[in-house]
Amino acid sequence: MRLCRYDSDRLGVVRDGQVFDATAALEAIPPRRPPYPIGDPVVAALPELRPAIEAAAGRATPRPLSSVRLEAPVWHVGKVVAAPVNYRKHMEESEADPAINFNRQVLGIRTAGLFLKATSSIIGPSDPVRLRFPDRRNDHEVELALVIGRTARDVRAADALPYVAGYCVGLDMTVRGTEDRSFRKSVDSYTVLGPWLVTADEVPNPSDLPFSITVNGEVRQHARTSDLLLGIGELIEFATRYYTLHPGDVIMTGTPEGVGPVLPGDMMHARIEGIGEMTVRIEAAA
Ligand code: MN
Repeated sequence: MRLCRYDSDRLGVVRDGQVFDATAALEAIPPRRPPYPIGDPVVAALPELRPAIEAAAGRATPRPLSSVRLEAPVWHVGKVVAAPVNYRKHMEESEADPAINFNRQVLGIRTAGLFLKATSSIIGPSDPVRLRFPDRRNDHEVELALVIGRTARDVRAADALPYVAGYCVGLDMTVRGTEDRSFRKSVDSYTVLGPWLVTADEVPNPSDLPFSITVNGEVRQHARTSDLLLGIGELIEFATRYYTLHPGDVIMTGTPEGVGPVLPGDMMHARIEGIGEMTVRIEAAA
């Protein structure tokens, strides 16, 4: 199932370029009272909600995707976990180019660890990325993003895939500079998630998906998730040795070689085979 959030918090099922409104299915989620459980209530309830979502979508009059405003497909992301230098050739380009890596040494992911992006940086594909520091280099990074479906701690890599609710396309927008990654990559609008969530049952082999990004039609990054240094299971194992993952937490798996600058007016087109594609505009911050 392909689930989108659209037009101010509606839930939709995407099929054949059309959106089927399934918002009524959200009525089945019990209202929350303290103590509020951690995590996204829709993702947490997804296995039980599926019949209601399918029934609601079955009654809906479809609308063309092009006529709706797509928002990030998860309501309450508790944390965005992100992987630095998780593709060999991106590590090499970072080591070779001081404009990408301002610090002298590029630490491997096992040494550098994971980092967190502020959830306030999340937008959906219908919103523009607003460049906050136009005098500095701002880069695109296209990444496979996964959404955690159930509480995970101390999960072994071999057991990790059932903890994934689904996948989406992620853009880890980045201000280049000397500051910590979490600071430079947490600017408002610098985490794009979309165009929808593809549930894990529809992605039989997430560890070998071709993906790419173009800027104004020019291919900038093109790789396969099989090139990941730490794969999906290993990332979940690595993360959950340090902290608990909750439903709705997002893992950005890292970006391949070819990162490069964007400028106001640019149009990015990101695509992951079997997941989806989205066009995102770059604007100057107001
Ligand atoms: Mn990244």
